[in-house]
Amino acid sequence: MPAGLRLTFDLDRLSGNWQRLVEMCPDAECAAVVKANAYGVGIEKAIPALANAGCKTFFVALPEEGVKVRNAASDVDVYILNGFFADCTDVYRQHRLMPVLGNPGEIRRWLAWRSDDNAALHIDTGMNRLGLSMEDARRMGDVDLRAVGIHLLMSHLACADMPRHVLNAAQLERFRSIAALYDGIPASLANSAGIHLGQHYHFGLVRPGIALYGGASHPDAKSDAVVTAEARILQIRKAEMGETVGYGATAILGRESRIAVLAAGYADGYLRAAGSGHPADGARISIAGHDAPIIGRVSMDLIAADVTDIPEQVLEQAEWAELFGETIDINETANVAGTIAYEFLTGLSGRAERIYVGGGFSS
Ligand SMILES: *Cc1c(COP(=O)(O)O)cnc(C)c1O
Repeated sequence: MPAGLRLTFDLDRLSGNWQRLVEMCPDAECAAVVKANAYGVGIEKAIPALANAGCKTFFVALPEEGVKVRNAASDVDVYILNGFFADCTDVYRQHRLMPVLGNPGEIRRWLAWRSDDNAALHIDTGMNRLGLSMEDARRMGDVDLRAVGIHLLMSHLACADMPRHVLNAAQLERFRSIAALYDGIPASLANSAGIHLGQHYHFGLVRPGIALYGGASHPDAKSDAVVTAEARILQIRKAEMGETVGYGATAILGRESRIAVLAAGYADGYLRAAGSGHPADGARISIAGHDAPIIGRVSMDLIAADVTDIPEQVLEQAEWAELFGETIDINETANVAGTIAYEFLTGLSGRAERIYVGGGFSS
C-alpha cells in the first residue's frame, strides 16, 4: 500500500561507509553494530550488504536481534551487548550467539552453563553503564580467559564525540592497563566517534554504528546518507499575512505565503520537536533541491512547510518533499529537534513505505 512517508535505503552507501572505516583502521578488524534493527535500516537487508563487503563481526543489543543476524549470515560472529539472559539460554546455543559478559553473577551463570560456547568480557572504564568494575577485572587477571571461552575484551567510551573531553584519555589508560593483564586476547574500545580519536584507540577491533548509517560522529567524519525520507505533498495552499498555521496557532505569517502540506508526522517518527512556532526555528525540508522551513507544529500525520520562496513551476511538478537524506542532512534535522541522528533513525515507524536500492536489491 502506498504510504505518506517513503524511506529509501541505499545499501551501496551502507557498505561504502563501512569500507571507508576499514581504510581508517588499517591495524584493526572493523565490525558493525546493528542493534535496533540496524539503526532502523533493517537487519535483513543490512547484514547481507555488510557481510558481502567483508564484515565478519556484528554486535546487537538483544538475543532476538542476534537471531535475525544469524538468519541473514550463517558464518559471522554475533555478540549480544546486553549480555547473557538466563531465561533464553537455548537461543544462544542454537544460533551461536556470544554474550558480552559484564558482571560477576552473569559470568558465574554463563560459566556454569557453557560447554564450548564463547563470549566477550566488558570492562567498565568510566561510563558506569555495563561492564565489570576495574577491581573485579584486575581480580580476574589470573584466570585464563581463553580457556573459559572469552575471545574479546571490550569497553565503551562515554565522550568519544567530544574529542577534547578528559574522560577519553582516562578511559584509554584504564583500558590499556586491563588489556595488558590479558595479553593475547583481542581488545575493542572504539565506537564510530572513537575511531576518529586516533589509531591508539583502535586496538584489535572497532565497533562503529552510527557512522555506517550516515550519522555524524566527528566534525571531520565523512559518512554518506543511507536513509532518505520523503513525504507525499498533499496540497499547496495560499494563506494571507497575519493568518496562522497549525495547532496552537504558533506560527503567524509575516507575509502572503504558500504552504506545502506533507503527509508525514510524529506518528511516522518525524519528531514533533523539529517543528516551529516561527518560520526560522523549524527544521528544513527540500522540494526538488529547493529548501524550505517547516512552519508551525508537526502534527501526528502532517507537516506544513513555508514554500513561498520556491518557484511556482517547481511546486506544480513536485509530488514528494525530502525530510532528510541526500539533500537535508539528518544530523541537522536532529539537531534542530534537540536530539541526535540515532534517535531519528531508530524511531522511524513501521507505517512508512520502505524501498531498498543497491546491495543487489532493487526493491
Ligand atoms: C551502540 C554501541 C556502539 C556503536 O556506537 P556508535 O556511536 O553508533 O558508533 C559501540 N559499542 C557499544 C557498546 C554500543 O552500545
